[in-house]
Amino acid sequence: MHEQIASPINKTIFIVFVTGILSVSTVLAQSPLALVIHGGAGTITKDSMTAGKEAAIRAILKESLETGYQQLSDGANSTDAVIAAINVMEDSPLFNAGKGAVFNAAGANEMDASIMEGAGLNAGAVASVSHIKNPINLALKVMTASEHVMLMGEGAEAFARQQGFEMMDPAYFHTDFRWQQLQRIKAAESETKETTGQDSLAEDQHDQWFSTVGAVALDKHGNLAAGTSTGGTSNKRWGRVGDSPIIGAGTYANNNSCAVSATGHGEYFIRHVVAYNICNRVELGATLAVAADTVINDILVKAGGEGGVIAMDRKGNITTPFNSEGMYRASIDTDGQMTILIYREEGEPEGALMGNVEH
Ligand code: ASP
Repeated sequence: MHEQIASPINKTIFIVFVTGILSVSTVLAQSPLALVIHGGAGTITKDSMTAGKEAAIRAILKESLETGYQQLSDGANSTDAVIAAINVMEDSPLFNAGKGAVFNAAGANEMDASIMEGAGLNAGAVASVSHIKNPINLALKVMTASEHVMLMGEGAEAFARQQGFEMMDPAYFHTDFRWQQLQRIKAAESETKETTGQDSLAEDQHDQWFSTVGAVALDKHGNLAAGTSTGGTSNKRWGRVGDSPIIGAGTYANNNSCAVSATGHGEYFIRHVVAYNICNRVELGATLAVAADTVINDILVKAGGEGGVIAMDRKGNITTPFNSEGMYRASIDTDGQMTILIYREEGEPEGALMGNVEH
């Protein structure tokens, strides 16, 4: 028997046979594919929406899903699918990320982004960048081409230049909608100051339409990845960094539990380490749906933190809880079924936070 395998012809047949078995079993063992995205949470109601705006937002969410899912179908890894899906929303002026990012109190755009891989816990993040067309791509570069996890401000942009990123003129990010929004918030702020003599609270200043973007994907190897990109909150103080670039708060991925991208009032998401909090509960035995619901609709509600998450586990289970009135959310599940939702659906837990948070 040993002699037979050792003969050159039999050896070749044996190797071809084993390779065949291995590739068949690899194909059979391929993980189902799944992708879930969000375009932000906040005061999103039918009354506050026009048919035209809703159609435009749905179209971008669909394009983002299809672009990311195409990557997964072509065999790309979950990281590339997350980047592709997020790039579509960053390039649209309708979302608070890349083009269309909100303005800070000084009238500038300061953007944050992060990405994390469930296999190996690699992560990259950037904070307070102002000239990067797709901040999520720079977060990826920090992960793949530096020894660090997070770079910020001028240092992040110097790294970007070194890596060949194009520097955008600030005018690229300017949208009239966001500029007017800043003026309205500032006007309300000075009115509060005049009538009460006090600066308005941070809670009163934050944008009701967060519109941050994020994606979570599961690839054919069964690897999870999550990413988030944002302009932060309207009228934020210069230098303020929210949860979106903070690994564990706005973004987290671990193949042993789940992957999460968050959107909402960042200060609360940082304090309650929302993305990691959910994955940790899953690792300790909770189902994905229970873990995410507990953090969003119990812990955050009690704390007064508005927002939501998209989350997926390694089987491709998806959950998208939010405690605000609405959340742009869309997915292609493991059966290839596409869903695009904006408002609260029947059966979804009430926006338990409503009435609790001042806008
Ligand atoms: N979480 C983001 C921040 O606080 C805002 C958002 O999700 O829209 O910066």
